[in-house]
Amino acid sequence: MSAKRIDGYEISAGVKAAVAKAVASLPGQPCLAVVLVGEDPASQVYVRNKGKATVEAGMLSRQHTLPADATQVEVEAVIANLNADPSVDGILLQLPLPKGLDPEAAIARIDPAKDVDGLTEISTGRLALGKPGLRPCTPSGCVIMAKQALGDDLSGKHVVVIGRSILVGKPTAQLFLAEDCTVTIAHSRTKDLAPVCRLADILVPAVGQPEMVRGDWVKPGAAIIDVGINRVPAPEKGEGKTKLVGDAHFDSCAEVAAHITPVPGGVGLMTVACLLRNTVMAACARRGWAMPADL
Ligand code: NAP
Repeated sequence: MSAKRIDGYEISAGVKAAVAKAVASLPGQPCLAVVLVGEDPASQVYVRNKGKATVEAGMLSRQHTLPADATQVEVEAVIANLNADPSVDGILLQLPLPKGLDPEAAIARIDPAKDVDGLTEISTGRLALGKPGLRPCTPSGCVIMAKQALGDDLSGKHVVVIGRSILVGKPTAQLFLAEDCTVTIAHSRTKDLAPVCRLADILVPAVGQPEMVRGDWVKPGAAIIDVGINRVPAPEKGEGKTKLVGDAHFDSCAEVAAHITPVPGGVGLMTVACLLRNTVMAACARRGWAMPADL
């Protein structure tokens, strides 16, 4: 392996420490409310981790759990109550929702001032217009990791984002564009994906296809920010065992790239750190507190 690992533990710890320092300097405690619908085990783990990280950063954490058979009206009523509650600064609706519920309609109910996931139409529009606002967490984490590897000035870098989802691909592309990068968005209809990827100084696979990006898709010296989190069988660990892998084939890509994020231990850790940062930003904006300088 020649590529340097971009360490999600180290970088997310730095963001979390900055958040904790900022929280300690505020005149009150920001509060993040997470809404979980159903009993999806992965979602339960994510929600637990978010709550724990919120408390560790010195903030207040609230969790609202609804059964898997909750109706759209019930989910939206919880969101409406949190919107109306002045003690709540951030609202995160854990996705995916159980089948039969409409995530877009539910997200649309979140007060944009409390939209710490950055997914409402207002937040999305502000990002597209280049106005200040709450940015989606995983995409923000991608930019922080790229800067950690390459330095703060990313201008002129060619970024290829593979994936165009509302949650990851599109906002990631827009955030890199805001850093004056040249951005290509690839997706399932892109023809000849490998040569497109080889143009990238920064390659961001956000697809959900285990180890799709191979070493010969990578420009020598590129940085790979792998968003994909895929659970695959791991018979080498024992019968029925599984492991997590990214959308990039780590070993072959690491031979060619100069920097690469591992999975696990990469972008996933940044998502929670950026959520905490957004909660502080939302609290400061709502409550008229001065935003701590070094956040
Ligand atoms: P998604 O909504 O399923 O979007 C996947 C995107 O990949 C789509 O735009 C799709 O294109 C594109 N795609 C699918 N197959 C392709 C192919 N063969 N070649 C090129 N593009 C292809 O998924 P998502 O929510 O964006 O998540 C993507 C991955 O990131 C998943 O592995 C997910 O688990 C992971 N993720 C990680 C974090 C984190 O914290 N690290 C957070 C969120 C998601 P079309 O639009 O044409 O269908």
